[in-house]
Amino acid sequence: MMYYSTNGKAPLATLEKAVVKGLAEDRGLYMPESIRPLPGIFFENIGEMDFREVACAAAYAFFGEDVDRDVLHDIVYDTLSFDCPVAKVDDDIYALELFHGPTLAFKDVGARFMARLLSYFSSGEQLNVLVATSGDTGSAVANGFLDVEGIHVYVLYPKGKVSPIQECQFTTLGRNITALEIDGVFDDCQALVKNAFMDDELNAAMRLTSANSINVARFLPQAFYYFWGYAQMKKLDLADQLVVCTPSGNFGNICAGLFAKRMGLPVKRFIAANNANCVFFDYLRTGVYDPRPSIQTIANAMDVGDPSNFARILDLYGHDHAAICSDISGATYSDEQIGETIREVFDRTGYLCDPHGACGYRALSEGLAPGETGLFCETAHPAKFKDTVDAITGSSVEIPARLRAFMEGRVERTPLPKDYASFKEYLMAR
Ligand SMILES: *Cc1c(COP(=O)(O)O)cnc(C)c1O
Repeated sequence: MMYYSTNGKAPLATLEKAVVKGLAEDRGLYMPESIRPLPGIFFENIGEMDFREVACAAAYAFFGEDVDRDVLHDIVYDTLSFDCPVAKVDDDIYALELFHGPTLAFKDVGARFMARLLSYFSSGEQLNVLVATSGDTGSAVANGFLDVEGIHVYVLYPKGKVSPIQECQFTTLGRNITALEIDGVFDDCQALVKNAFMDDELNAAMRLTSANSINVARFLPQAFYYFWGYAQMKKLDLADQLVVCTPSGNFGNICAGLFAKRMGLPVKRFIAANNANCVFFDYLRTGVYDPRPSIQTIANAMDVGDPSNFARILDLYGHDHAAICSDISGATYSDEQIGETIREVFDRTGYLCDPHGACGYRALSEGLAPGETGLFCETAHPAKFKDTVDAITGSSVEIPARLRAFMEGRVERTPLPKDYASFKEYLMAR
């Protein structure tokens, strides 16, 4: 399978190149040249399969031409070492819980899969992953890459600007993960990483790559759990008119769901739930895409003003606004509405949503037509947002053992100033 750029001005790339480079030469996002539908019989039998079997079928369709089948099987089983169960919230609304992985959020799936695929393509020579984080990406990437052979990860984060819970998820790992505490803000971290990628001398001395969320190896595996969500709803006999709602920021997650639909997954339609950052919602309404600076909200992993995967959605639908609107609708909620939703659902049903999932729940509760059943992605464990969630519900969400273990681990970090010369000197000395 070859991959083309959404900007159309870069040469076709192999999977290996798309994974190692991440972004195409023309700054476009890679898309597979074709999307292979899965056979009807697969969807008839999907209710009898388990998560890993379902995911393998999707993985073979994406990557089967380019990755040895046994290796791919092994990567899928290693990536999905945890379940993504469905939980009933209302009679017609279910949560697809994507937060049972190492860092309690859905990004664990893509991060682990990408780590293993990069390692497969690294052909023995050490690859160095540079990742700038404002919190959550760093932890998902660090944990996904932990102990993966042939790869060293440098996580750059702004000193004093990430929460202690987030910080301990990438500073306590050790081994092939190095946390660099930069005396600056997130933009400084990002600038250091960008400069490093453009520095010929540095690139000649060490093989550098990024673990960006737009990488096809992080993005496509997110389709796995849409198939699995459908399979579980089918087991419950609730899959006939299924509406799937994805809380969205950069739109990678929902885009993977749209790929699954293109492969034949019988989802009736999708809803993209946003916080107050409503660029996509406005696009659906007006047909005009008007990116803008992001606004801070309590669902902060969705504070995105110019979603990177918008280009993929446009491409998938041939830039046809009407076609996009026929598959996807939108919703946008203020912090106040998110808080209201968390409280209302918790008081009435006992189910505790995190601030992102709450947007998904609410969009379904307002947007389902009679006869439809809704499934929303619960993208993170509520304990990841403990302070926010506790203040809203007035009770105390228990911190899962996995998160507590991070908090008890020994912190190791290397402080660095924010100038590029110091960063380069540090890397060159490694
Ligand atoms: C990253 C993230 C999102 C947004 O996902 P996108 O793929 O960027 O749309 C939603 N919720 C949580 C908890 C996240 O970490």
